[in-house]
Amino acid sequence: MIEFVIRNGPPQALICPEFICDTCRKQVTASGNLLYARRTDPRQTSPVFVAHKGACDRALTKWLGTAYPEADGWHHSWEEIQFFLSNLVHNFDHPYADDPDGEYLDHQLVLPLAGAKSRTR
Ligand SMILES: [Zn+2]
Repeated sequence: MIEFVIRNGPPQALICPEFICDTCRKQVTASGNLLYARRTDPRQTSPVFVAHKGACDRALTKWLGTAYPEADGWHHSWEEIQFFLSNLVHNFDHPYADDPDGEYLDHQLVLPLAGAKSRTR
């Protein structure tokens, strides 16, 4: 997940936004993947999860398959954090409402809960 983390080293104490691996809970720097699930209806998505490449990525992919099973119509996707950041910065400066050629579709965030199959927000 993207989380705020307290950092007390020099030059000063800060509360820093960071990518934290959802598998090992350590900071992801320079290289990592974002993973998420989406339904055939692309308006339903899971939250975006973060993992180091390699073993952490494989473990998170396995968990995603149980929390958002393909048998329920979920498709699993991923992209590199650097590509995600590039698109995020672009979209921050270019509102969909100002795009005369595109259409923004409503979407639903789906969170799995213990004891329940899923929750839609
Ligand atoms: Zn990790």
